[in-house]
Amino acid sequence: MNMVLDESHDPRLTSWVETAQGHADFPIQNLPLGVFSPSGGAPRIGVAIGDMILDLKAAAEAGLLPEWAAMIAREPLLNSLLGQPAQRRIELRRTLSLLLSREEGRAQAEPLLHEAAMCEMRLPAAIGDYTDFYVGIRHAENIGRLFRPDNPLLPNYKYVPIGYHGRASSIRVSGAPVVRPKGQTKAPDATAPQFGPCRRLDYELELGVWIGAGNALGRSIPIGEAHRSVAGLCLLNDWSARDVQAWEYQPLGPFLSKNFQTTITPWIVTIEALAPYRVAQRPRPEGDPQPLPYLWDAADQAGGAFSIVLEAALSTEAMRKAGAAPFRLSRGTAQNMYWTVAQMVAHHASGGCNLNPADLLGTGTISGDDRSALGSLLEISRGGTEPVTLPTGETRCFLEDGDEVIFAARAEAEGRTSIGFGQCRGIVLPAEG
Ligand code: MN
Repeated sequence: MNMVLDESHDPRLTSWVETAQGHADFPIQNLPLGVFSPSGGAPRIGVAIGDMILDLKAAAEAGLLPEWAAMIAREPLLNSLLGQPAQRRIELRRTLSLLLSREEGRAQAEPLLHEAAMCEMRLPAAIGDYTDFYVGIRHAENIGRLFRPDNPLLPNYKYVPIGYHGRASSIRVSGAPVVRPKGQTKAPDATAPQFGPCRRLDYELELGVWIGAGNALGRSIPIGEAHRSVAGLCLLNDWSARDVQAWEYQPLGPFLSKNFQTTITPWIVTIEALAPYRVAQRPRPEGDPQPLPYLWDAADQAGGAFSIVLEAALSTEAMRKAGAAPFRLSRGTAQNMYWTVAQMVAHHASGGCNLNPADLLGTGTISGDDRSALGSLLEISRGGTEPVTLPTGETRCFLEDGDEVIFAARAEAEGRTSIGFGQCRGIVLPAEG
């Protein structure tokens, strides 16, 4: 388990970067990795600190990083860095923590900072493969209930971490607009489908899992070691065309209803930064089957879940014109995952499929027990039958053109500084004409 706590997690630690103190997302205890372009500059690796970004390429050139990191930090993507052993990421984290906290580091490091507001964030890595799971059990139950009231969960759910292979080419970072997809839909009473713009566009509130060192083809990842294959987490919006999905999903699962775009936060919150927020996996309800041995590890059960609060908000065009703040649609905890991240990884590799550095996994929509913690509009509007009323008096069952979806999340623990993920935003544009 990556549970090493050191001085870099100390809640008393402060940075000479003033805006880091009390920053909602990026205090010095976080130090997430990303790729940014300073205005007019080429993409490079950076670390978020308060409202600033430390240029790691420049830090490497200035001789401020460990020798092994100096080459890797000059690359314009994080693939190589993500593939390093955890021990190296820990070493880099400690180096950066000292550099940004000690007054001695200031003279050298301060000129290497860029104002985040002036930079453009990029995809942090070249994502080879993307897989989306379905481990949010409340979501699976809610969706299942809409289609099968008597039998919301299929019998495999409590044995298999269910997932499907997604599409890496259409993953974008926060801020990229999403064009309303077109597709085949069929009304229940229609005899044949039609092709046209999606009318039930939705979001899915998920965590993204960045794979670090993976496994060779034909070799599995033992559950007890699966945590070593995770480099960090992000937020992920699995935009979903519900009307397309309903018609196409049987028998092989989602296809065009999910592959038109996926939005992620640009910052990778490292698994080392998340160590203080690890919590025990919620015990399985009485009567649930014991997972098969390849998915069961006592240490993973004891500390393989995360205390992360996830929020989704909506801002319509009319709300923005009226100067209204985004309207919160949900707030819930990531502890509503039936399978841990390590179980997802171990299962994915269990058949011999190789995971590579910078592969991305989605957890699946994370919904909570009550109506204030539902991670998709399909659940909030109960299948499109109970619209949400917004502060402008507008109502929504699904997303309209001009709507912006905004996710945020914070990792929290008693006596610890909270750290955040940055925002995951996307505005819906009209379908291609
Ligand atoms: Mn999903």
